[in-house]
Amino acid sequence: MKLYEYEAKEIFLEHGIPVPEFRVVSTPEEALKAAEEIKGRVVVKAQVLVAGRGKAGGVKLADTPEEAYRYAKQMLGSEIKGEKVNKVMVTKAVDIARELYLSIIIDRSMGQPVILSSPEGGVDIEELARTRPERILKIPVDPLIGLREYSAREAARFLELGEQSKQAQDIVSRLYEVFLKYDCELAEINPLALSTDGKLYAVDAKIIVDDNALYRQQELSGDYLRDLSYYEAEAKKLNFSYVELDGNIGILCNGAGLTMATMDTVYVMGGKPANFLDIGGGARAELVEKALSLLLQHPKTEIIFINILGGITRCDEVARGIVEALKKNPVKKKLVVRLKGTNEEEGRKILEENGIYVFEFMDEAARKAVELGAKT
Ligand code: GDP
Ligand code: MN
Repeated sequence: MKLYEYEAKEIFLEHGIPVPEFRVVSTPEEALKAAEEIKGRVVVKAQVLVAGRGKAGGVKLADTPEEAYRYAKQMLGSEIKGEKVNKVMVTKAVDIARELYLSIIIDRSMGQPVILSSPEGGVDIEELARTRPERILKIPVDPLIGLREYSAREAARFLELGEQSKQAQDIVSRLYEVFLKYDCELAEINPLALSTDGKLYAVDAKIIVDDNALYRQQELSGDYLRDLSYYEAEAKKLNFSYVELDGNIGILCNGAGLTMATMDTVYVMGGKPANFLDIGGGARAELVEKALSLLLQHPKTEIIFINILGGITRCDEVARGIVEALKKNPVKKKLVVRLKGTNEEEGRKILEENGIYVFEFMDEAARKAVELGAKT
């Protein structure tokens, strides 16, 4: 989950990383007031999660509160790269002498955090990595040992600072603290600005929290499910692995491997899955009912393909769940069911009593689902 700039800056402040004074507002009048309170030149910044905000007109320097009002009015309610602006930040403008780059990321190939530092910040870092990779220093951090002082010093030294090098080293350490505490995939300061009066400030702030750690990061703004659709949020609450796709065939399986294989088969047969939904092992009727209800309610699914391999999961429990879901959701959607394994006969009987045909083989069932999907 990406955090907004103001959320990341609040975290920075709590951890002693210097951030220019700021306010977050949602009306032009509030922006005017904020600019008056902050005094002097301010920057008005659209709070959006898309990258390249500055270039898209989402960062504006304002010399007077009236100018800040105008920029806020322009930005609020408008869209930046397709994302609606609901809030803007009004922040004290830094008189910038140099823009530097500092971040900590998870390097997946190395399997550990890496500090990235560059004396050339502000710009697009991917671009710099392509054109002049030697201008970015990468320092791996052993997560078991933690950040060593000499690593932080080395990262700071690469920024080509003079007397501020010690302060930069301190910022590196604090950024690592933030990175650990919030289970980050990325904690980035771009630019880290050196002001003309010789101080360092995090002028921009970006934090991406690892979604797999969200269960223990719930205090982050309280609504950690905000980037998810209603269905994704519901699935998360129920602990299903659920991903939305663009097709029209809903997929409901048990086990990630079977779910993937089912999706592949549907693709091979020329169909398109509407989702990935894995109810996991040993699901009882109630859980199956909830999973199927979700797909029945989803506007995109026209056909639902249920493919269950009973092991710990019992086919009769699954069948009872299916029947229950159909009772609760009287929508007319076509169902293709394939059941195999533990208590298969019992499951088949329950479904057939309710007018649902049960396939024995996956390819047969997938073909049927695709055929029905093509007709709608
Ligand atoms: P981004 O486009 O979303 O990365 O937004 P940033 O907050 O990084 O701002 C983009 C650029 O605007 C920075 O690289 C700076 O060049 C400029 N900028 C942002 N804040 C200030 C400021 O306080 N003073 C000055 N002089 N420039 C700023
Ligand atoms: Mn930036």
